[in-house]
Parts: sequence; structure tokens; C-alpha cells
Amino acid sequence: MQTKGSAPDVSDNYNITLSLLCYNKYVCNNNNERRTFMIYLDNAATTKPCKEAVEAAVNALTECFGNPSSTHAEGIRAKLLLDDARQTIAKAISGREECLFFTSGATESSNWAILGAAENRLKRKPKVVTTAVEHPSVKAAFDKLEKNGAEVIRIMPDENGEIKAESIVNAVDDKTCLVSCMLVNNETGYVLPIAESFAAVKRKYPDCITHCDAVQGFMKLPIKVNALHADLISLSGHKVCAPKGVGALYVGKGVNISTYLHGGGQESGKRSGTENIPAIAGFAAAVKMLSGSINERYENACALRDILYNSISDIDGIVINSKEQALPYICSIAMPGYKSETLLNFMSEKGICVSSGSACSKGKKSSVLKAFGIPDKIADATLRISFSADTAESDIMQFADVLKQARKLASIKV
Ligand code: PLP
Repeated sequence: MQTKGSAPDVSDNYNITLSLLCYNKYVCNNNNERRTFMIYLDNAATTKPCKEAVEAAVNALTECFGNPSSTHAEGIRAKLLLDDARQTIAKAISGREECLFFTSGATESSNWAILGAAENRLKRKPKVVTTAVEHPSVKAAFDKLEKNGAEVIRIMPDENGEIKAESIVNAVDDKTCLVSCMLVNNETGYVLPIAESFAAVKRKYPDCITHCDAVQGFMKLPIKVNALHADLISLSGHKVCAPKGVGALYVGKGVNISTYLHGGGQESGKRSGTENIPAIAGFAAAVKMLSGSINERYENACALRDILYNSISDIDGIVINSKEQALPYICSIAMPGYKSETLLNFMSEKGICVSSGSACSKGKKSSVLKAFGIPDKIADATLRISFSADTAESDIMQFADVLKQARKLASIKV
């Protein structure tokens, strides 16, 4: 911590990051010219908002600033924008617009879904089912249910690091009121068999509510509400080139969950609070921009992933944590003997942004990698490289090159 008048304490992570930021602003090229230089390979943490999203958000801020609940002309203009955004995002998952509710992000969506589905059943000590590899926003909601008396079943990946549909289905019984599983794991890209398992759960136990945190799969895999058999779906804007602070919860028709933001009755009375119109407009514009190119972008991500794995395959001891069938946008690798945080700082000094796991884990040991059966020695040395539609082959080659430079530096070895 820096006190007034004292030199920055370089042992403080925050200060190190700040000094790296300043350094990165002025990296010198071979001609000794100062230039900005940055390769962004941390798109699972957040994406750069696309031009379309920025324009839509600025337009909403400047030209369409009314409160959508107001009945005058300015309010109606904002309401039209809101309705249009709702239609766009619902259409992207082949859902009904009246079932889509805007939130502040997927953390809120999943908290609302999980607590809203189970909290009013707590008196009956219900059983709720989830996996051991969920994002903290889901994990924490289940921890809260457990504290309040629910029996929580957390499905572990098997000895091959996989979660099979039958493990999910077998964990559910007639006492289970909720099952919540993510579509794509944010640390490894592992794709869970949601459609297959939720369809089987619904066949056997139609009253059991199914929730899917679809954040990392949205606009990367084709998602159709009916085919997924999820009653509730959490989405986030900032993973799909939209601004931060916006997300959505899809609540299937007839699905009853309690409301926990009370007030002015916005979002059909289900989520009070004036809607964040600029972010919502940006969200819809980004989704529109990405619509129609899911397959093409998937192929491109597969090609980038192959280039990455080929270009680092000659590094002695390199480990690829992501499975072959993982979503190609998220690549988890490890260079045992080199700590993730040290590698990450080295990369950052060279102008490359990657992550050591999920952005939310911030240096803490990853319980998710452990659950996937990845030994501590490898988990501690893990880097997550994640792509967007803007990622270029040259970015990957540069990353591989810098990783090889790091490998040669005995000074950063643990
Ligand atoms: N779920 C998953 C799988 C995520 O990767 C994230 C963000 O990292 C979230 C939920 C939280 O989303 P938000 O930042 O919109 O709250």
C-alpha cells in the first residue's frame, strides 16, 4: 500500500500492475520508436467492445437518453430501443422476447435464477444439483442455499476430467427442485452435455427447474432455448463484444422464480431498477454483429487453436489442459516449473495479455482445475489463452515466441 509521500511499494500487486501498464504504453521497437503495443488474448475474461456496440451505446447516451418507463416522446424512444434490443437477444437464442429480462450481468442473472428458484422451497429442505466446475457466481449461490438448509450435490468430473450426461441425470431425484450446470467452462473451455442431460432430467422430473450459465458459449455455439431444455439461461454482454455491466436472464414461459429486486416494477415487475439503456443497446448491437457467423468464427477459432498448440509443441514439458473437444476459443496450457503469475507478468511486460485461469480467481488456487483432476504442479503453472473474432495468427505466434523466451529465463523459474 502506498502512503502519501512514500515510494510505491513494489511488493504490492496493484502497484506492479500499474507500473507494467505504464511500461506497456511505451514499448520500443527495433528502430527505437516509442509505440503502443498490445496483444489481447484474454477474451474469456472480457472482450473489447465492437464498433457497432460503442456506436449504439453512444447513440443511446446522447440521442436516446429518456427513461423507458416515461410516457413522453423521449421515454417512448428509449422504450422502443429497449424492445428492439430484447427482440434481438431473444432471437439469438431462438427464444421469446417476453421471456428475456435484462440484468447487470451474468452474476446477477445466475444469483437470481438459483436463489429465485430454490429459496422459497427451503422449508422443505430441497435437494439442488450443480457441478464442481461452475463459475463463482453460481458456486456462491449454491453455497448460500446449502447454508440455509438445502442439500447440495456437486457433480465432480470423472477420472478422465469429464462430466457425462448420465452423471447429471443420476444426481437428480424426485426431491430435486433445481439443477444448474454451465454450458462451457470458463477456465478450460470444456463443453458440458447440457442439452442431453437437461432433456433427460425434464423427461423424468418435469417439475425440476433447469438453469444453464451459458456465458462462455453464447454467440460461439448455436444455442436454442428449446433444444437446450433449460428453463433459465444466464447471459453476459461483455463476453460478446458488448459493454460491461449488462446481461440477461431468460426465464422460460410458465417458470416460476421469485423476484429479489423490488421497486419501480421494470422488466415486467421481475427486476426493478431503471434499465441500463446504453449498455443494453450496445449488447444488442454486438449480438447483431456476431449473428450469422457462429460457424465461420468457430472454424477460425479451431484454426487459431491448432496454430497455438503446434507452435508451442516443441517446448519441453508443455502441458495442454484443455480437452480435444473443448471450445476452441479457450486454451488452457501449463509450463510446469514456471508459476502462472510470474509468466503472466512476464507476458504483460512484453505487451501480451493472457490470464492465469479465470479473471475472478486473481491468484487464488483454482478449485476448478483441481476438480478437473489437474495436479497442483500443473495448475500452478497454468495460463489461459482465449480468442475473439479479432485474434490474428500473428498474435498467437508472438505469444508462442514470448513463452519460449520465458522458458529460457532461469530467473523466473520457481
Ligand atoms: N459465468 C461465467 C462462465 C463466466 O465466465 C463469467 C465471467 O467471467 C460469469 C458467469 C460472470 O459474468 P459477469 O461478469 O457478467 O457477471
